[in-house]
Amino acid sequence: MCGIIGYVGGGEVVPVLLDGLRRLEYRGYDSAGMAVLEGGAVRVLRAAGKLANLEQRAYQEPLHGTVGLGHTRWATHGAPTEANAHPQTDAAGSVAVVHNGILENYAALRAELAAAGCRLRSDTDTELIAQLLGAAAGSLLERVLATLPRLVGQYAVVAVRREEPDTVVAFRNGPPLVAGLGEGENLVASDVTALLHRTRRVLFLENGDVAVVRRDGVEVVRADG
Ligand code: GLU
Repeated sequence: MCGIIGYVGGGEVVPVLLDGLRRLEYRGYDSAGMAVLEGGAVRVLRAAGKLANLEQRAYQEPLHGTVGLGHTRWATHGAPTEANAHPQTDAAGSVAVVHNGILENYAALRAELAAAGCRLRSDTDTELIAQLLGAAAGSLLERVLATLPRLVGQYAVVAVRREEPDTVVAFRNGPPLVAGLGEGENLVASDVTALLHRTRRVLFLENGDVAVVRRDGVEVVRADG
């Protein structure tokens, strides 16, 4: 279970994500990645190995935006390759997710999605969450609430959707998530160490909480709506 950072604010998001991931490095990881909402698209950069490899990619292929997600992965399902690094996306490239933990119904969900004609592009349990969110209907919050009953296991997940470029949604069962309430910006992370340099106002999410993070506030609903 490694590192997660999500950010909705007013400034460039990439330095915030890389800084947050640096602060989570102490936990160990084998690959890293980030997703940024840019110009009506979800743009993803990932790299196997050290964070320096991701920073190099970000230097070569700059991403610009004020909303995004970052992740350091410790592989449980699939080798520590770029294709298995997070964020994982749905088939349409609309939804991107980062995930700490393990889905216990991985095999059943994978078989179900494959039988429905979904072409999976990674070996991860995490991609299954992205594909389920992509196939659901409504807003990202509605998609999360519809998908939660399908997820068996341990998860801290943070997601974005290109159609809602001002919103990050976070939910957990097991691994920790904490929201950081800032000035003109709000964050979510797997660990307070990724947030405390930006704000001292934090909100620890409980199992079954779904947090909708926007620039002007953080709203928490329960998984049953
Ligand atoms: N089970 C996920 C994977 O293997 C997440 C691992 C993690 O917690 O970093 O990709």
